[in-house]
Amino acid sequence: MRLFSSKNRAVHLGDYPLERLPRQNRAIDLSLIAPPPSLASPAAENRASLVNAMSPYLNIMDRMRLGDAAPQQAPLPDSLEARSEHLKAACYYLDASMVGVCPISEGLWLEQPRVNTSLAAESAQAYGVGAADNPMAAASVAEGQAAWGRSEAETVRPVNHRFALVIACAFPREPGDDEPGCDWLQNSQAERAALRAGEVGAVMVNYLRMLGFEARLHTVTAAELNINGALVAAGLAEANVEGVTMPFIGDQFGAVAVSTTLELSPDLPLADGAVRAAQGLGWWLGWGGTRAGRQGPDFAKRQFHQGLFPTERLKRVEDPTTFIDAARVPRVPKRHDMFIRGSIGDLGEKAQRELEGFRMITKSPFGHAMIPVLGGMVPLQYGEATTDPAEGYDDPEENSRRIKATMHYLGADMVGICEIPDYAWYSHDVDGSEITPYHKYAICILIDQGYDTMEGASGDDWISGAQSMRAYMRAQLIGGVVGSHLRDLGFSARGHSVMDQDVLHIPLNLLAGLGELPRIGEMVLNPFVGPRFKSGILTTNLPLAVDKPIDFGMQDFCNKCQKCARECPCLAIPFGDKIMFNGYEIWKPDVEKCSRYRITNAAGSMCGRCMKTCPYNLEGVMKERPFLWSAMHLPFTRKWLAKLDDVVGNGRINPIKKWWWDHDTDETGRVIEAARVNRRQLNFRNDAPSQDRIACYPIDTVPDPVNVIPTSPDRKQGMLAYQNAERPDQYQQRLRHGTVEAPVMPAWYNAAEGEKHD
Ligand code: SF4
Ligand code: SF4
Repeated sequence: MRLFSSKNRAVHLGDYPLERLPRQNRAIDLSLIAPPPSLASPAAENRASLVNAMSPYLNIMDRMRLGDAAPQQAPLPDSLEARSEHLKAACYYLDASMVGVCPISEGLWLEQPRVNTSLAAESAQAYGVGAADNPMAAASVAEGQAAWGRSEAETVRPVNHRFALVIACAFPREPGDDEPGCDWLQNSQAERAALRAGEVGAVMVNYLRMLGFEARLHTVTAAELNINGALVAAGLAEANVEGVTMPFIGDQFGAVAVSTTLELSPDLPLADGAVRAAQGLGWWLGWGGTRAGRQGPDFAKRQFHQGLFPTERLKRVEDPTTFIDAARVPRVPKRHDMFIRGSIGDLGEKAQRELEGFRMITKSPFGHAMIPVLGGMVPLQYGEATTDPAEGYDDPEENSRRIKATMHYLGADMVGICEIPDYAWYSHDVDGSEITPYHKYAICILIDQGYDTMEGASGDDWISGAQSMRAYMRAQLIGGVVGSHLRDLGFSARGHSVMDQDVLHIPLNLLAGLGELPRIGEMVLNPFVGPRFKSGILTTNLPLAVDKPIDFGMQDFCNKCQKCARECPCLAIPFGDKIMFNGYEIWKPDVEKCSRYRITNAAGSMCGRCMKTCPYNLEGVMKERPFLWSAMHLPFTRKWLAKLDDVVGNGRINPIKKWWWDHDTDETGRVIEAARVNRRQLNFRNDAPSQDRIACYPIDTVPDPVNVIPTSPDRKQGMLAYQNAERPDQYQQRLRHGTVEAPVMPAWYNAAEGEKHD
């Protein structure tokens, strides 16, 4: 837990106080600095090593190395400082530990370029497309696979690149000898850091090219640039006889560089002795909102399987705090999802156009830059397990701890595990084929969307889509690596990402104890990061110990707070009470309104304003502890805490944290200045409507997933369905009296069932 808030610290400064280090404009002979050592080959003889599963993911990042710049350059600030600050902030947003910019001098080019020889053994076909039936997933897969078409052997120095962005990711603590997961994790730090830095670099190299500038990624596995030399030139490290040492983290890091033709303002090299000078009292305390030296590396004080948040202190309960009539929750087809419906044409031409090729995300180049990485990973979600299961995996408790440790080590913020109820599986795929449940357990991966950037945003401006994509990308990477590892060990496993999934995340996150259902409705709210997260799911049959749901007083808090309903730009969140919907007790949001707004938002990309303005959107600093404790333990304070949140101005835009450019893309594909930008401040209007104008679409209104005909949701019918919905207490009373019947299913479902029984 941090002592000091970083509210007044600009995002481009990063987590470490690099700006306090002495610097010197001096000539350094970079050609004398040895490049970083290559990674060891995947450890085939050590089947338990996670290095094996990370290797194909490292290759995905290397696939992004080369590519063509967009034909026209985006409008950028003339100030070279502003450009460098923007790019650094983007890297920090993607969780780089330290970032610098250097000029590329002759001494930085490697005499012998480094070639990733394992790329040649892969092909796009070998990975298969897998998700081609899902139009949005297929578009992303196509972007990811486009990278396969380029020449892997391209090693000609891009000598016209004059600057490089240098990106380092720190190691966490080394896994202990007796720690859960140590058999998977030990001796994998270099690969883990290469993967995490590679992910940041892959997004940034795509981004620069989308802005219309040539760019190339240089990793520890494939490079023309000496990354160690670049670290020194960018003022991120000092050279020594062993290699290079970075301030604050020494030699515990992995790094990449992105060279580019974009003119930037470089950083100065560190002055002699700067690394030693870095360890002062201010650093130890975390003065000014920086990372505190007293914290040590990540996981210095906790076991990996526990994660960084004290989830062990949460109250666990047998059932979720919102009632689920599990026997009567109908399974829904993917055709039920409003984004899928929109892509089919159910929400009209405008929404369909925006969903084509993910335009509501890709119109913002920074969000777009993540799509090839996400798409490149989709084919790795699936696969057959090896036929000889490894020994030593009979203990469910140990297996769960091992998996949690690994996911936290790779960067998951929290992980929960549950059995998968039937109703959490989609019934039909996008192509109409039936889905038969195939795994017993779900491992739910929670990725925080990041407090800092949320602070600078209105929630529905031009960074919003990228905020979602960043979290989805990380969840997919972590779920994918662990899924591949389980399959290598002989256990069936399948990743479910935003791009292609057979399970519903919300009930699984709820059952796995990652949060409670809040007023926002179709999401789970976590006590430590609030609603500000996205999830990924890994399903498997490996025997696992499950977690229990949690109770931190959310139901009562949301009863006394309506901030999200008040702040939603399209009034999609109810001010009123919970209802029963498809067997769930829920504050039912108007998913049609919300989806339309997110998909067609012309003054931003997507929306997450409800997440931004919720009082649980916490920074994670010491002074917030009393809020969290009172909210959890003292019900009578909740009403006042909700009011206090407004009084202290939480949910306002913090201009210091606004680092991104408001870029849109026109119909020709050219990146342009956005004509309109949402910059909403808090809306204190106190006009909760006498009746919510919410529409909901229960299972009997879901269109046929097999014979697909564009079918607009019937809003009038949907509003009636909401108004006539039963209250949870009435429903439970009927349940006790045995008068609740099976849900009314749509005609197409009944016809299909009839055919089955004929
Ligand atoms: Fe935005 Fe939808 Fe949340 Fe409303 S409910 S604030 S439209 S994401
Ligand atoms: Fe609940 Fe208030 Fe957060 Fe909405 S804003 S989810 S009502 S705590």
